[in-house]
Amino acid sequence: MPPYAYFNKQFVPLAEAKIGVMTNFLHYGTAVFEGIRGNWNSQKKQIYLFRLREHYQRLHNGCQVLNIDLPYTIDELCQLTVELVAKCRFEEDTYVRPLAYKSSESLGVRLHDLDCDFLAFAFPWGPYLDADRARCRVSSWRFPGEVPRAKLTGLYVTNAVAKTEAVENGFDEAIMLTPDGYVAEGSGENIFLAVDGKLVTPAGYDGILLGITRDTVIKLAQDELGIETVERHVGRVELYTAEECFLTGTAAHITPVAEIDRRKIGDGEIGAVTKKLQKLYSEIIRGNNPKYLDWCTPVYKR
Ligand code: PMP
Repeated sequence: MPPYAYFNKQFVPLAEAKIGVMTNFLHYGTAVFEGIRGNWNSQKKQIYLFRLREHYQRLHNGCQVLNIDLPYTIDELCQLTVELVAKCRFEEDTYVRPLAYKSSESLGVRLHDLDCDFLAFAFPWGPYLDADRARCRVSSWRFPGEVPRAKLTGLYVTNAVAKTEAVENGFDEAIMLTPDGYVAEGSGENIFLAVDGKLVTPAGYDGILLGITRDTVIKLAQDELGIETVERHVGRVELYTAEECFLTGTAAHITPVAEIDRRKIGDGEIGAVTKKLQKLYSEIIRGNNPKYLDWCTPVYKR
């Protein structure tokens, strides 16, 4: 089965979904995207889309920022995503990329007087960070100060330069600071520290993307492990002295951080709290924990 896309209001083979070179968003970053995981459960022969509605709620919020009139309701977006993934018939971990964009083939920097459209496609995608314990580096590139907290394509240039700077210097991931020097997030993940029996993570007021995995981890830490998460400014030096550190993201799941700026975090091994959260999370996203099935949307009719 070829992968499929939903494009121009119909399902087409992914290879046939093409965009004209004058399409507005290609030039000015005027699009909003999402990343949704379909997690394969080999026993149940099922793919579960994790927290599907929340992803489309966030896409919707991003569209408000860019004045994109989404031609679908959140329910319709959920429904067409289930259909899209089911059509692909993958039997492995899958990633769905929805994109809402300024679709007019018309140049000029603006948000107004442009048509809007929505596309989505799915493809098989395994682990995102190619390391079970990431080595990170604080980026020399500051995180953008304006209009963050939405997955606007144009904002991701900073993340891209930060990521490549880290990789070219031998690290797995970049950690960006806010314009005033606090810890913000990875190029595609939120960041958590374990300090004195609590979790600490940068707050919404630091301008970070409010990750759905971040929210999941905060809830699981509280409800399953009795561990509180404090959302506040996090200083760079706190990274070095934390007992544990991990990154969270739809693509990266929960990735332990072994080292930051060539300083070992804890003993450099996967920390006890990180390990417990990873175990809980990996069962939940595959639909193996009945308590959290509400977060999992099955794709195949069985
Ligand atoms: N921060 C950034 C910059 C990201 O790109 C992502 C990935 N969407 C995240 C954080 C994590 O968000 P989520 O857990 O919703 O995938």
